[in-house]
Amino acid sequence: MTISPDTALVLFSGGQDSSVCLAWALTRFTRVETVGFDYGQRHAVELDVRPRLRAGIAALDAAWGSRLGDDHVIRIDALAEISETALTRDVAIEIAENGLPTTFVPARNLIFLSFAAALAYRRGAAHLVAGMCETDYSGYPDCRDETIKAMQKALTLGLDRDLAVHTPLMWIDKAATFAIAEDLGGQGLLDLVIEDSHSCYLGDRTHRHDWGYGCGQCPACRLRAQGYATYIERRRQT
Ligand code: ZN
Repeated sequence: MTISPDTALVLFSGGQDSSVCLAWALTRFTRVETVGFDYGQRHAVELDVRPRLRAGIAALDAAWGSRLGDDHVIRIDALAEISETALTRDVAIEIAENGLPTTFVPARNLIFLSFAAALAYRRGAAHLVAGMCETDYSGYPDCRDETIKAMQKALTLGLDRDLAVHTPLMWIDKAATFAIAEDLGGQGLLDLVIEDSHSCYLGDRTHRHDWGYGCGQCPACRLRAQGYATYIERRRQT
């Protein structure tokens, strides 16, 4: 397949960040496909919310709907086999001796980007869009801008093709991510992100808060809750 400069593949987990990344890509590229990864995560419920989110985002805007192409789900069972982390095992979520949260899955984003690049190669996409963020990134070293830039270089060399890796949320906080959702898709996208995107590490879809569903206690929930509160506060001030 020939490579298209107008086609993007979005790493779409079903979380808040990747939902905003999908909307961002739909405003910039004429064909947008999505990929999700099933790696035995405890919060596999995020995979369940993906189709509803995709359909909801496509329905918000006729142009977005016509641009949104295929969805792909790739199983990477080996990732859970080789990692002893709180996202794949029944391990407490806390800060480990190395200073990183036990939710850190070593090399997860490097592996995701490699699989996404291979898929982009086959699908003729010249762009990857991913939600990594260095601002409030829990200290995950594979979310750093420098890591992503190095990966882009490695992938471009290794595939012998230009492949741009876009991370539109790299330098903004969770509150600004809510604001971008509103900028891109109005209250409709904001409501969709709150109602249907999933962040909670424990996969809790029973407790509904003003910022969406989740246990309210895990680091992902706390980050999302705090981000939403700040977003509402900033909106009130402007
Ligand atoms: Zn939670």
